[in-house]
Amino acid sequence: MARIRTIKPTFWTDSKVVRASRDARLLFIGMWNFASCDNGHVIDDSYQLKLQILPADGDVDVDSLIDELIDKGLVSRLALEDGRTFLHVIGLSEHQKTDTRWTPRCSVCLAGTHRNSPELAETPLNSPQESKGKESKKTCASIKPDAEFETWWKLYPLKKAKGQAEKAFRAAIKHTDHETLLAAVAAYAKSVEGKDPQFIAYGSTWLNGKRWLDEDLRPVSAEAINDWLRTCWDAHDTTSIENRSGLTFRPPDIPADIDDVRAFTLAARRDWITDNRDDIIRRIMAREANAA
Ligand SMILES: [Zn+2]
Repeated sequence: MARIRTIKPTFWTDSKVVRASRDARLLFIGMWNFASCDNGHVIDDSYQLKLQILPADGDVDVDSLIDELIDKGLVSRLALEDGRTFLHVIGLSEHQKTDTRWTPRCSVCLAGTHRNSPELAETPLNSPQESKGKESKKTCASIKPDAEFETWWKLYPLKKAKGQAEKAFRAAIKHTDHETLLAAVAAYAKSVEGKDPQFIAYGSTWLNGKRWLDEDLRPVSAEAINDWLRTCWDAHDTTSIENRSGLTFRPPDIPADIDDVRAFTLAARRDWITDNRDDIIRRIMAREANAA
């Protein structure tokens, strides 16, 4: 899927960039848009790239532009074990928000090649950023009750009488916390999966009955925890995970060349959740199985 990217002012005077030809620079910027992931992996198909980025430029030889970008150290070529090759925009990953990494659809990422590719150790130079407007305004600290309700409602298995459910949610949240409500609703959704809707409680009834205290909603399944983790990941919420799993998130040191510290920190939280997902799920299951 094509993505919106931003260009840092320093891009234009970067020593590697200025040495590339005009067409190569244009192709290079276009490749950010069509990278299949935030790690900068791009299909190694000059014909497709030409159609996507330079469709009306009949005289352009995209193969030689790619060679030029590789030669200038802006792009590299990776090979998977099965022989398929991909291009890699060097440094694209450094300043990206990594929201697609939860379920990467990029073949290179799925193959795990990006983890051991030497290119990632290279210094970023183009530093493109993605503008994610809405998404980046959301932090754990600033989650409003409205947003808390919406994440809960998203998991609730019966989408009826939302207004009443919201009212009940506001009352319920005074007696418990968001984390507990999300965990319980994920478990409840799992327990009624495939059931006739008439046997599924209205959200307001569920909340007014303090059903999150129901014993059969614990221990939750790995899938329910995974769903819950997904909502934490959406909200960059590592705190709830720490509380529930006992694992501790240690924020990474902020590199000196990071302009947007907040975005960097938020991305680091998501990376932590993604990287530790299995461990988090295991720990929560062990803890909550013991508690039950
Ligand atoms: Zn990738």
